[in-house]
Amino acid sequence: MEFDINKIRQDFPILQQKIYGKPLVYLDNAATTQKPKVVIDTVSKYYYEENANIHRGVHYLSNKATESFEIARKNIQKYINAENSHEIIFTKGTTDSINLVASSFGKKFISKDDEILISVMEHHSNIVPWQILCEEKKAKLRVIPINEKGEIIFDVFEKLLNEKTKLVAITHVSNALGTINPVKEIISKAHKKNIPVLIDGAQSIPHLKVDVKELDCDFYCFSGHKVYAPMGVGVLYGKEKFLEEMPPYQSGGEMIKNVTFEKTTFNELPFKFEAGTPNVGGVLGLSAAFDYLNKIGRENIEVYENELLNYATEELQKINGLRFIGTAKHKTSVISFLIGDIHPYDAGIIIDKMGVAIRTGHHCAQPVLDWFKIPGTIRASFAFYNTKDEIDRLIEAILQVIKMFG
Ligand code: PMP
Repeated sequence: MEFDINKIRQDFPILQQKIYGKPLVYLDNAATTQKPKVVIDTVSKYYYEENANIHRGVHYLSNKATESFEIARKNIQKYINAENSHEIIFTKGTTDSINLVASSFGKKFISKDDEILISVMEHHSNIVPWQILCEEKKAKLRVIPINEKGEIIFDVFEKLLNEKTKLVAITHVSNALGTINPVKEIISKAHKKNIPVLIDGAQSIPHLKVDVKELDCDFYCFSGHKVYAPMGVGVLYGKEKFLEEMPPYQSGGEMIKNVTFEKTTFNELPFKFEAGTPNVGGVLGLSAAFDYLNKIGRENIEVYENELLNYATEELQKINGLRFIGTAKHKTSVISFLIGDIHPYDAGIIIDKMGVAIRTGHHCAQPVLDWFKIPGTIRASFAFYNTKDEIDRLIEAILQVIKMFG
């Protein structure tokens, strides 16, 4: 399909509005993405026409909702190229998926003095669950360092892998820096020592073609809302061999086969990990979002977003006094920067008043900002519905900030 930006923008109703009398420029896509009409319509159709609880009912609507839900699972399996549909576990999002693995994999496979390896640039969701697990099990959290560009130092990573390492948990793309980590090489090195790898895919699934079989990752986690789908739904992909061995995470309905007061037996995959009523509408919305992205073409999206990133980087570099945080060779769709000594929050307020939505602060990645010895940045993050004109509007807003603060 031809990549027609004007037509694409028409698919996103929220982008048509004005903020403070100016057309909205939405550059906070790493926090959450906007939803195309087809996703909104899918969710709305579910509640208008199909709403029923799934898996247990014998009536027409329940069967219909169950069928749509399981078709969606297969569609999502295909999108990330997982081997089996029962390796797709529906969760609330990336945070929930990582917590599931930390709790369940942790219970089964982590003991005293074991090591879990993460990197400096992780989001808090890929730090805190491991930290808590390590405290509980008296295991050790080890951290892969980065260089001044915001790239992991591969040699040190290799040296950190040892017989005590029981898991590597690393982000595919950093939300604070935009760095694309060499996860395929990381996975391959870890596997040589039989160490499984969890990939935090929250920021890669919207921008890169993700093929879990090709990556050979053992777990891959993502959130629907960062990939043009509703909030409150996400996925944990896990290899069958691990999921089969891992104990249930939460318990209650859906995840059981048989319950007596003496003993409960658990359901098979994927239901063993899906206790309680799931977000059916959200799952259908996620499946619709992937259909929509396929229609636009994932290669088209990557090419266009790279063009946007290059344009934004070149144009922002022309402004005196900007300091860029995260200048890795391989990056996608995120530019983090500081304007002289101006506090990011003050800059953010003025930029907002110009109708441009960006994010300021620590981006839930405090350790990496500590590493750069700064409290926060201004972050512009792009999606394929953004345009070069919008980047020009961001630049105008930055120039206004500089003018106001001298
Ligand atoms: N990891 C990364 C890299 C992220 O960017 C985010 C969201 N900012 C998360 C994890 C957490 O995602 P969620 O809040 O949707 O669970």
